[in-house]
Amino acid sequence: MIVPPGSNIGIIGGGQLGRMLAMAAAQLGYRCHVYAPDPSSVAAEVAAAFTEGAFDDEGALTRFAAEIDVATYEFENIATGPLAALAEVAPLHPSLEALTIAQDRLEEKTFIQRHGGRPAPFAPIGDRAALDAALAAIGTPAILKTRRFGYDGKGQVRIDDPETADAAWGAVRGAPCVLEGLVRFDAEFSILLCRNAEGQLVTWPAPRNRHEGGILVTSSVPAGPDLQAAIAEGEALARRVAEALDYVGVMAMEFFAVAGEALFNEMAPRVHNSGHWTIEGARTSQFENHIRAICGLPLGATDLAAPRVEMRNLVGAEAEAWQDVIADPAAHLHLYGKGEARPGRKMGHVTRLLGA
Ligand code: AMP
Repeated sequence: MIVPPGSNIGIIGGGQLGRMLAMAAAQLGYRCHVYAPDPSSVAAEVAAAFTEGAFDDEGALTRFAAEIDVATYEFENIATGPLAALAEVAPLHPSLEALTIAQDRLEEKTFIQRHGGRPAPFAPIGDRAALDAALAAIGTPAILKTRRFGYDGKGQVRIDDPETADAAWGAVRGAPCVLEGLVRFDAEFSILLCRNAEGQLVTWPAPRNRHEGGILVTSSVPAGPDLQAAIAEGEALARRVAEALDYVGVMAMEFFAVAGEALFNEMAPRVHNSGHWTIEGARTSQFENHIRAICGLPLGATDLAAPRVEMRNLVGAEAEAWQDVIADPAAHLHLYGKGEARPGRKMGHVTRLLGA
């Protein structure tokens, strides 16, 4: 089904991903209607319409669905029950199935294993005794992660010594978790792909990603010849998963590269921070192709627009240096319009197109 320009696209979630989606949609002549609990949402500022509502308010989501032609989300921590009611009224992409898998680290890892992917060693943790058993089996260092509601390193505790297991279990407040072995990776990279309902599938050149404290710092493309084999393996897995889910929209999969192989970290059924460089750095951005896919349009080319591209996040107070960034004529500055520069908060990013 084609949703033509001029139609109304519903975006659930009001953060910077929604903001950049709405900007890409506007370029194609769509009107975006943002749904979020916070009236000062940075996506609403650039959208045609805004509805304030809780993510679990089924009635409000259903009324919202009646006002739009197609719906998408920019945020994964949304209860799937109320979203299912919305999906009865307006088409929702990516599907609830993809969202349900990605919301739960345990579901996600077992799903990926069924499709031939290899996560880092892991064990499900339902109680304190299971944590001891898993620490004995996996060893330390390890990372205890809540199964649900984690992002940007939140909901994660590193365990270097089994004697600190009590403190780690306290820090996650006994929530259902997975324990993961710490991976001594050579590098991290992500696969960004987009698929439409006709089955057209495109991938962007995979970025090499650097994180600090669980937060993405830089994405660089091309990732470099040392990652070529691991990237080919990761891309093959991402394609298999997208086909198996009959996926529509942008999907991101994050990997650790270890000795030329790809260890799966996590997947996101949405546009992704490691794809922000595509706005200026690729022929078609992840945001535009996501809008094209959910509206049933052909996808745009994903080649690089320069020999090398680097994206750097502006986190917390780093955004205060915006004057230095914009003084560089080669820098593309993006500020998300967020008020308070709290530590760890993503305030903006800068993309540079570079020579060979
Ligand atoms: P996540 O939110 O699970 O993607 O974790 C954020 C970042 O923390 C990752 O991109 C890695 O840099 C680091 N990290 C998470 N899990 C592991 C692991 N099992 N081994 C090594 N580093 C990890």
